[in-house]
Parts: sequence; structure tokens; C-alpha cells
Amino acid sequence: MEGSAAPMARRLMDKDTFTENFKNVNWRKATYLCYEVELPDGDYRVPPDQDKDFLHNKGGHMAGPPRHAEMRFLDLISSWNLDQDLCYRVTCFISWSPCAVCAQRLAEFLRENSHVSLRIFASRIYTKGENGDYREGLRTLQEAGAQIAIMTSKEFEHCWKTFVDNQGRTFQAWDELDAESRYWSMELQRILQPTAPPSLPPLYFPPSHPVPGPSFHSLRGSSG
Ligand SMILES: [Zn+2]
Repeated sequence: MEGSAAPMARRLMDKDTFTENFKNVNWRKATYLCYEVELPDGDYRVPPDQDKDFLHNKGGHMAGPPRHAEMRFLDLISSWNLDQDLCYRVTCFISWSPCAVCAQRLAEFLRENSHVSLRIFASRIYTKGENGDYREGLRTLQEAGAQIAIMTSKEFEHCWKTFVDNQGRTFQAWDELDAESRYWSMELQRILQPTAPPSLPPLYFPPSHPVPGPSFHSLRGSSG
């Protein structure tokens, strides 16, 4: 297929599908995942029309076993057999954050593929716990090197321009977009903030030295 003529037009998402699924005040059962791969010079393994695309989870009503969107993305990226001598930056925009199982699998992928970096922007946090602790999953994913954040109007607009058949219309933010985004961001920060692993021994300070406490005098640069 090398040297084929005009580039194929990239597939775009229906604008209502985008809004219904990514709108952070909605509760949708499906998960949509838009991704972009920054291709390094010298890459010839990612098919030309596949560096930016989207996919969704395979639900129970579809043929074959159900599969979460993140797993389908891992299937895809693994199929490219990316060049280990190059560095690939992947950004995913997901309508729900990864569940515990997907987060673990993404973390494993990152540990095994140090030539791939991953940024995830989620519209909302998936809080169902039937597959394990989603909070633990998100922390594991972060520890494996992924950057995880909540989509703000900037990312929604970027997706609208990049992945959606927007028919020339500019992105229209919905009511409560910013408030919901702030809420989920705070929630995510709370989940991801580092906590001391219980397995570590407590810090030991010789009794002859004063125990260091919070030094409020040294705090600088307060807001405002
Ligand atoms: Zn999942």
C-alpha cells in the first residue's frame, strides 16, 4: 500500500454523539475515547489515518465479548508495534476515566513501553467499583507515568475542533461545564494526592534534635 495517492479523509464523530457522551453533566452508559499520537520523525508504523481517531466501548448488545474503550485502544496501539527507538506522545480524551481494571492495564502497558508517554483527560470520573477500587487504579496509572486530568472547556473545544464533524460551527459550552469540570478536578486531586505508603517505616528523628514541624513562617507566595 506504500505510495498510495491522496490521503483518506479522516473519520469524524457525529456532533450529537460527542455532546451526548462528553457533556460532563450527562450520565451516559457508553465510553468514548478520542486519541492523538504525536508521531516522531522516522515513524512509519502508525497508519496515516490512525494517528488521530476515536473509538468507543463494545457493549453487551454488540457482537463478541464486551470490551472497554481503553482496552480497545490498547489493542490498537499494540497492533502498531511502535518503534522502540522512538518516543511517542499519546493524548486520550475519554468521556469517563478508566475503571480499575483498565487503569491497571494501561499502567502495565506504560511500564512495558517506556517509549510511549500518555496523557489522559477525562470528562468525568468513573466511580463504579465493581471491577476494583477505581481510586487505586487511577493512582497506579499515575505512578506508572501517566498524566491524568479532567477536561476543561479548553479540551472540550479542542476535541470539538479535532474529532467532531462540527459542520463549521464553533464549540458551544453548556451550562455548568466549568462548575462540573472544577468539581471533578477537585475530586481527582483528592484521589491522586500522594499518601505515605503504610509499609514504610516512620521517620525517625534523634531525640536531641527538635522534631521538625510545619514552619509557617517559611510559607511564601500565598495567593492574592
Ligand atoms: Zn474499563
